[in-house]
Parts: sequence; structure tokens; C-alpha cells
Amino acid sequence: MNEAALRILATDTLKWIARNEQVNNHIRHSNELYPLLFRAAQRFITGETREDAVTEALKLIWKGYSVSLECIGENIVDEQACIVAKNEFIQLIRLAGNARLETTISLDLSHIGMIVDKELAYDHLIELTREAALHGLTIMISAEESTKTDQIIGLYKRVSGVYANVGITLQAHLYRTEQDLMDIEGYSGRVRIVKGAFQESKEVAVPRSEELSKRYLQLIEKLVISGRPVSIATHDKLIIEEVRQRGYLKQPHVEVEMLYGIQPDLLKVLKAEGYRTRVYVPYGKEWHLYFCHRLAEYPPNIYRALADMVSPSKEENLY
Ligand code: FAD
Repeated sequence: MNEAALRILATDTLKWIARNEQVNNHIRHSNELYPLLFRAAQRFITGETREDAVTEALKLIWKGYSVSLECIGENIVDEQACIVAKNEFIQLIRLAGNARLETTISLDLSHIGMIVDKELAYDHLIELTREAALHGLTIMISAEESTKTDQIIGLYKRVSGVYANVGITLQAHLYRTEQDLMDIEGYSGRVRIVKGAFQESKEVAVPRSEELSKRYLQLIEKLVISGRPVSIATHDKLIIEEVRQRGYLKQPHVEVEMLYGIQPDLLKVLKAEGYRTRVYVPYGKEWHLYFCHRLAEYPPNIYRALADMVSPSKEENLY
């Protein structure tokens, strides 16, 4: 097997591990594995508690970045656990609001009830959006597997009809996204465009390729021209260079957003050049899937993770 084929195999395997609930459960309850893997995960996750995330967010804001905060979690099938998650977000909003952090709160709808009952997710989302509005904050809904996209867009549209401080993430790799973008025209909030982290079949999604970058840029172009607030959420240097050359980054409604711990040097340069930059700052105990995705999309991270397990070396002042 050549190197490219091995890389694809590693990526697919990691995405499979990411979704495997048995593996996740085993790690969560293992006194040996959890701390070992958490050492490596901390390159991408600020810590287990909202205080960890807010402390890091304060440092980033002080340096001139905007931030999105998220308590990681998804696919919760137990109603009580969804209520606990919603309450965690309420506490996070209050903590950030009282600290006068101008931040976005990012969340997965399957974390707060969408799998249990659509109406539970609606009630939770509207409560969170109202609480965020009271504190001058915004909510950003994350994108999940394509099987959930209809429900996510439906819930976004209902809440966005009531409160203006809610935005949505769309995935460029899904064929349907161009249509979805038209479908949400006229609704409020920022649109965050990502390539897409989930393993999808070739019938519904384009794999990483030049074609995907082209589709990504087409979506961004539409949003920039329409004047809709947009988050260019990618670490792809070629895409960033292209949007910079086209002058999109100078527009007041456009920002670049990157995940905590990934390509901080690139974001730092963009900030120094005066562009709007945002860091997505995650925390929590349910980091297994998120961490696997970060390894899968850039396999050299596997070597780094192994080294971090033995001797964590989270460099200071990356931003
Ligand atoms: P890629 O083509 O994957 O990577 C381009 C280059 O960026 C790579 O060559 C490498 O140099 C660098 N890079 C990319 N990933 C890494 C990494 N992990 N470590 C080190 N270098 C890396 N996905 C969803 O499905 N739903 C969401 O709601 C969602 N929210 C997101 C929010 C934000 C703010 C961001 C930035 C991403 C989000 N994603 C989400 C993830 C996204 O879909 C991609 O999986 C992820 O951003 C990697 O794709 P890329 O655009 O960076 O391009």
C-alpha cells in the first residue's frame, strides 16, 4: 500500500472510531485511557470546564480575536442529559455575559434534544437564544451528519423567525448546500461555511478535492455579494489566499474563523493585517469524536498526539 492510500485508510478508520459509541464509552470510563488521551486532546480543547474555556477566551479577546465557545457534545438520546446540556449552555452564556465577553455560543442541536424530540430541541434552542440575546451574545448552530440537515435547517428557521441573534453552519461538501443557502435567504444571523467533517457517501458529498474548494469559494462569493454576515471557517491556505486576493476579507460582514490549536500562525497573520478573525474555543468531557476528527483530517496530528501523551507540549502564546 502506498503512502496516499495509507493516509486515506487512517482517515477513514479515525472517522469510524470517532462515531463508535462503544469505543467512546470505554474511553470515558477508563481511568487509564481517559487521562492519557485527554493529554493529547488538549492541543485542541481548552479543558473540561466552562471556566477553562472562558479563561482562554479572555486571553484571545484581549489579543484582538473574536471567539466562539462550545461545550462539546452531540447525539444525546436521553432527555435528562439534554436538559443538563442545555443548562450547561445557560451557565456558559451567563458566565460569558457577566464577564462582558462579546462571544458567539456554538452548539450542536443533537446535544440539546434533537434526537430525543424535535420540539425539545426547539424549546431548548429558543430558551438559549433568548438568554444569549439578554446578554448581547449570538448563537451559532453547528452542522452535523447530512441525515440531520433538514431538521437542523427547519429548527434554525423557526428560531430565527423569533430572534435575530442566531446563525447557522453549512457544509460545502454536501451537494444540497447551494439549495440550502437559497432556502435560508432572508433569515437572520451569520452563515458559517465549513468544508464538512463527517464521513458521507459519494452520493451526497464531494470529497476533499479542487472541486470542493471551488464549491466552497462559490458559496462564499454568494454570501459576500449578498451582504450576509459570513464566517469563512477553514484552515485551507489556498482558500484564504484566494478570498484575500478577491478583497472579501476587507468587507465588514466577513470574518475568518479557525478551530482552537489549528493553524494559529495563519490566523495571527490575518489579524495583524487587520482582518476580522475568530477562534472556535471548545471545552467539555465529550471530546472523543471532536478529537478523532481533528486527527483524521490531518494525519500528522497522530504523531503529535502520541508525543503529547508521553510529554504534553502545548506551546504557550500560539496566538
Ligand atoms: P482541509 O482541506 O481539511 O485542510 C486544509 C489544510 O488545513 C490542511 O492541509 C492542513 O494544513 C490544515 N488543517 C486542516 N485540519 C487540520 C488539523 N486538524 N490539524 C492541523 N492542520 C489542519 N464541520 C462540521 O461538519 N460541522 C461543523 O459544525 C463544523 N464547525 C466548524 C467550525 C469552525 C470554526 C471550523 C474552522 C471548522 C468546523 N468544522 C465543522 C470542521 C470542518 O468541516 C473541516 O472538517 C475542518 O475545518 C478541516 O477542513 P479545512 O477547511 O480546514 O480544509
